[in-house]
Amino acid sequence: MAHKSYDLIIIGAGPAGMTAAVYGARAGADVLMLEKGAPGGQMVNTYEVENYTGFGKISGTDLSTKMFNHTQKLGVNYAYGDVRTIEDKGKYKVVETDVEKFEGKAVIIATGTKNRRLGAKGEERLAGRGISWCAICDGAFFKDKEVVVVGGGNSALEEALYLAGLCSKVTIIHRRDKFRGEKKAEEKVRNHEKIDLALDAVIESFNEEENKLDSVTVRNVKTNELNQIPCRGAFIYIGQEPATSMFSHLIKVNKQGYIITNDKMETNIKGVYAAGDVCEKDLRQIITATNDGAVASQNAVKYIETLKNK
Ligand code: FAD
Ligand code: NAP
Repeated sequence: MAHKSYDLIIIGAGPAGMTAAVYGARAGADVLMLEKGAPGGQMVNTYEVENYTGFGKISGTDLSTKMFNHTQKLGVNYAYGDVRTIEDKGKYKVVETDVEKFEGKAVIIATGTKNRRLGAKGEERLAGRGISWCAICDGAFFKDKEVVVVGGGNSALEEALYLAGLCSKVTIIHRRDKFRGEKKAEEKVRNHEKIDLALDAVIESFNEEENKLDSVTVRNVKTNELNQIPCRGAFIYIGQEPATSMFSHLIKVNKQGYIITNDKMETNIKGVYAAGDVCEKDLRQIITATNDGAVASQNAVKYIETLKNK
């Protein structure tokens, strides 16, 4: 059976993929955007965005909806699909999801990143039973309860502030005594009456009672002293890793697995582009993801034009 075919297939509907879709559709391309979760990507899990130009403050879900509606008004085809692989057939590419195959003249990979795991004892077992990677999705389960947040980057600081509005106490557990996140967020955290800090500390184990998280055991990395912190919820924000394992047989990635592109967002395969957090880059933000999406799409459309003359 012939597969459905499109000019441009975009994998991932985060800010990078959705912006690529807007630019592709406006340039007259027949665009298919495939997504395995909800449109919005990491924005869906973000309580408030304060640094996307023009919006001041906007919730991550509202910004996701606005971007998605924009793609739909322009006639972008949207489908569920967990993309498993891409095959390069020269003039066209085959994109295979868990349910079907599609053909595209060009492809943009905008699959972003996924949350890193700590690897501590009890983590896998208690995932979803107290341990979470998304405060905005699961925070309400811990209303007026004690929780911990692990990490020292912007995500940990900002989500700890969000949780402090819901929970009775939030303890940030960070492996160093200096935060990686922005100074403004750090100041708010340090001055918040409901937030405690456990610095130079790492989690040795997540402990359970009646199949649910009950406490964490932390070790001070300087003194080796062990301490138990009672908590019903633990939110892990220790960074991300690129969602590229399904493409790495074909697409060139760096040591950490991020896709290597040039300034046109071209990968090593002609007709395959990458955009957003999935790429090797310095600044992973919504605004830089949208920038990449626009550049990738403009170049993909130019590439599709060249195929007509062959
Ligand atoms: P993503 O947003 O990660 O989207 C990728 C999409 O691809 C996802 O929807 C995913 O489901 C989909 N996907 C992955 N694999 C597949 C597959 N195999 N098949 C189909 N679909 C797939 N940035 C800011 O500018 N301001 C902020 O306030 C801010 N807050 C943040 C808070 C948190 C907690 C986090 C984690 C990040 C935050 N960021 C913020 C960073 C920002 O969210 C990212 O830089 C941005 O979302 C990257 O966009 P993207 O489109 O490249 O990837
Ligand atoms: P991040 O900046 O990579 O920070 C990860 C944190 O987790 C670091 O403090 C790191 O410690 C710690 N960590 C990493 N591995 C660990 C381990 N195995 N055990 C214990 N701790 C560990 O990740 P992020 O905070 O999720 O941010 C990701 C990207 O999104 C960044 O570019 C960030 O700027 C962006 N973001 C932006 C905003 C915003 O603009 N408002 C909000 C959220 C995220 P060390 O510091 O010791 O390495």
